[in-house]
Amino acid sequence: MTTQLTLPLRQTTSPELSVVIPIYNEIESLPKLIENLTTHLDPLALSYEILCIDDGSTDGSAQLLKKYAHTHRFLRAILLRRNYGQTPAMAAGFNHARGKVIITLDGDLQNDPADIPLLVDKLNEGYDLVSGWRKNRQDAALTRLLPSKMANWLIGSITGVKVHDYGCTLKAYRAELVADMNLYGELHRFLPALAFIEGARIAELPVRHHARQYGSSKYGLSRTFRVVMDLLTVYFMRKFLTRPMHVFGMLGIGTTVLGVALGLYLTYVKFGLNQNIGDRPLLILVAILILTGVQMFSIGLLGELLMRTYHESQNRPIYRVREIVESEEL
Ligand code: UDP
Ligand code: MG
Repeated sequence: MTTQLTLPLRQTTSPELSVVIPIYNEIESLPKLIENLTTHLDPLALSYEILCIDDGSTDGSAQLLKKYAHTHRFLRAILLRRNYGQTPAMAAGFNHARGKVIITLDGDLQNDPADIPLLVDKLNEGYDLVSGWRKNRQDAALTRLLPSKMANWLIGSITGVKVHDYGCTLKAYRAELVADMNLYGELHRFLPALAFIEGARIAELPVRHHARQYGSSKYGLSRTFRVVMDLLTVYFMRKFLTRPMHVFGMLGIGTTVLGVALGLYLTYVKFGLNQNIGDRPLLILVAILILTGVQMFSIGLLGELLMRTYHESQNRPIYRVREIVESEEL
């Protein structure tokens, strides 16, 4: 008897466009969102799919998405088991997207699907990532726009990727690029920087932005601090991820050389000048410098090992899908 393993593949040819939308308690926006999307995507003569990732909503968004998945052929609902956050939700969408071009947008109607064709056109000019820029942003000035302006400046200066608006979810990616990027924590805000690490060509395009009509924002001011922490991670990844020994080894060489030089001087004082060195603070410094040097080398070596593990180990998803819903026919 032969056992045959068949995967339940719905489509053999991949669509041209995958639209990935993270959804957390956006039930009121959903009907209009899907309607707007079809209105702007249908005339394009591009094959497309819409992936809605329900991030553990408690307002019935998941049930509504399940219903849509049965009635709309092009829509797939990916329901996560609990609320993981926007980054894992987007990562789930990226992993399940089959399109050659991937568009991400918010599920709260703040992004405008009318911009999708413009983003795709820009991407086709030869870019790997086109980032939306909410030039005329419709959010509260003090609590949202000011921190965002500062964050964008900070991220831009530290990562070296000058994009005006890191926070805009509306972006277009080449699928190959997305496949190379691993997302953790809340790193979706740093996607252009992560893409840059992967060697992507990045462009920016001003996009429309609307005020939130339904529901409420899922973030408060506290995200500013998390952004700073994430920034340190991204900075380290960009600079040193593939060569930790260079960083720690350099520090190690610096402290060891200084320690040995001062140690030689003390040896001369002791044996050349016949003076007592037991009560010299310099002696303690020599010991500390040489020990630090040894430690830096050890950390560098450990870093090298960890870096290899990081790059070579299996890709473990950062989410668990409860269920994938899609219509029967096709
Ligand atoms: N979102 C999510 N999981 C979360 C928080 C947010 O999937 O834990 C989704 C949310 O439904 C929306 C998008 O991420 O589609 C952006 O969230 P929000 O509009 O609250 O952010 P803002 O526009 O205020 O920056
Ligand atoms: Mg929003």
